[in-house]
Amino acid sequence: MRFENKVALVTGSSRGIGKAIALELAKEGAKLIINCSKTKEDGLNVVKEIQKMGSDAILIKCDVSSEDDVKAMVKEGVDKFGKIDILVNNAGIVYDIPFFEKTSEQWKETINTNLMSMVYCCKEVALRMKEQKIKGSIVNISSTNGINCFHPDSMDYDVTKAGVNLLTEDLAMELAPMIRVNAVAPGWVNTKINADLPKNFVEEEVKKIYVRRFAEPKEIAKVVSFLASEEASFVTGSIIKVDGGYGGWSE
Ligand code: NAD
Repeated sequence: MRFENKVALVTGSSRGIGKAIALELAKEGAKLIINCSKTKEDGLNVVKEIQKMGSDAILIKCDVSSEDDVKAMVKEGVDKFGKIDILVNNAGIVYDIPFFEKTSEQWKETINTNLMSMVYCCKEVALRMKEQKIKGSIVNISSTNGINCFHPDSMDYDVTKAGVNLLTEDLAMELAPMIRVNAVAPGWVNTKINADLPKNFVEEEVKKIYVRRFAEPKEIAKVVSFLASEEASFVTGSIIKVDGGYGGWSE
């Protein structure tokens, strides 16, 4: 198994892509620190699912946009499992609101949740990895929105994801050679974050995706698992698009 005796922290892992990543890492033997921001029910179900697979997991409630909360979460995780080998920064939010209607508070919330959270988590976890001389792996969940301009209504989100990409490249240099840092940039994925998209918009988007559908969370998780593993020992500072091909081509 890829992750025997490894401990992984996955932020925002009570549902969606984060949950799929946590289950994929657990399936390969990792012990998991599951993180939720509000209600605990979904996160506790993920913990139970992992325990049923024969691995160990704990749930930690933490708002990753708060540096103090992140410090407490990492301490609690290390107190429980002794170390963290793998960090997956997955938590994220999006507000689809036109530029002139989006408030400064909404901008700040998006920046703090999608970008500053990764700074806080990387700093806390990488400090411990260095102290403990761990050959660690960090995977940041970005988006194709951070590579190409997508729509002005998600401007704040797109800006944070572009920031995640450069943070990834800079941190890969800063933390080398012991810690590898990569990002996965998904295109459209079937999760709650997209639950309110209009049906006709989804149909038009699907026509532009070469494989003609949205991804399932598991398809993102498989790539994260590879990057987190020793099989990716020569991969660092990379932004891997997982978007089924997306090129504006429509029949
Ligand atoms: P989701 O809404 O289902 O999950 C987001 C998770 O982040 C939830 O568990 C939520 O509780 C958590 N979260 C939000 N704010 C938090 C906070 N302050 N503290 C802790 N946790 C918090 O959406 P998803 O599609 O699973 O998104 C996961 C990641 O994938 C996000 O970073 C998102 O930007 C990225 N992504 C998603 C898509 C897509 O099409 N679904 C595409 C590209 C990138």
